Amino acid sequence: MKHIHSFSMGLTADGRAVTGYTLYGKNGFRVTISDLGGVIWSMMVPDKTGRLTDVVAGYDSVADLEASSGYLGALIGRFGNRIAGGRFTLDGVEYSLYKNDGDNHLHGGKVGYDSRIWTVACEDDEEPALHLSYLSPDGEEGYPGNLNIKVTYRLREDMALEIRYVATTDKKTVLNLTNHSYFNLGGFASGTVLDHTLQLDVSDYLETDAALIPENIVSVKGTPFDFTTAKTLRQDFWVDDRCQALKIAGGYDHCLCFNGWQSGDKTVRYRGYLEHTESGRRMELYTNQPAVQVYSANFLEDDGNRLKGGLIKSKQIALCLETQCMPDSMNHENFTPCTLDVGEVYDYTTIFKFVNQ
Ligand code: BGC
Repeated sequence: MKHIHSFSMGLTADGRAVTGYTLYGKNGFRVTISDLGGVIWSMMVPDKTGRLTDVVAGYDSVADLEASSGYLGALIGRFGNRIAGGRFTLDGVEYSLYKNDGDNHLHGGKVGYDSRIWTVACEDDEEPALHLSYLSPDGEEGYPGNLNIKVTYRLREDMALEIRYVATTDKKTVLNLTNHSYFNLGGFASGTVLDHTLQLDVSDYLETDAALIPENIVSVKGTPFDFTTAKTLRQDFWVDDRCQALKIAGGYDHCLCFNGWQSGDKTVRYRGYLEHTESGRRMELYTNQPAVQVYSANFLEDDGNRLKGGLIKSKQIALCLETQCMPDSMNHENFTPCTLDVGEVYDYTTIFKFVNQ
């Protein structure tokens, strides 16, 4: 039995050894992940004719990854997305975080989970899995509590990548863990993602200010954020006066809230799909998170650092579907809860399942 192959990926700039793991599934489906940041480096997926293509954007080397930004493929934490002013209060104590996005805190701060080396245990089975663990110490990046995190990436026989996030703490804390893969189901080098079709079972989205800090919960009805009926991303890509929200963000970069998000129900549900019609690749999304940040890579711009295969970075070449709770939720009483108390278990699952049409 050998469904996992591990290999050296060299050293980080500060001398930490990085190991890569390729998990082999059915029909050529395979995913390469590193212990550095739990980064998904590549995801080979067959199209309707069986031809394999790498459907995630990323880098060729650790040096390229470290020279760049954008969190491509990485695990994000302790708190994914933005926290206004890098500040929050928990049980009367004010916590202050690193501001790495203007006046705000983004994706865990100066050194987020995307830059940590995770401890890896392999489960070499028909459905191979990598168990990544990381102990995020009390006070790291300003967050309270020693947070014990285990993330499992599993390649299922039904061509699904299942990601399960489990965490416990020894002091009340806030957390929002996700994965930041940039999908292009036509292949990462195939150009714009705007002709992909997206369908999502959402009821609301979060309107933001100019710094992308969420302000209001707004119904998706009659807005470009209404993906309840499948449509191309291009259809309502109104980055002009027709839609201030899209104009501010330069595209989709918004938290979309799933139907029934208010219920707090933790059942893993089918929530929609992303499809590239030409290749027939469809990626179904299942999760028990209440929301998803839909990000059309509007900040991906040529900065001199190349992507895999020398590809020049450009806007909208991929789409991120970052399942999560609502950003900045600790600063809004009407948002989804985001705290974890001593004795509680944080347990969320997101599944990206490939089905050919
Ligand atoms: C955010 C973007 C941000 C990007 C960084 C996304 O999750 O929504 O605004 O620029 O991550 O790669």
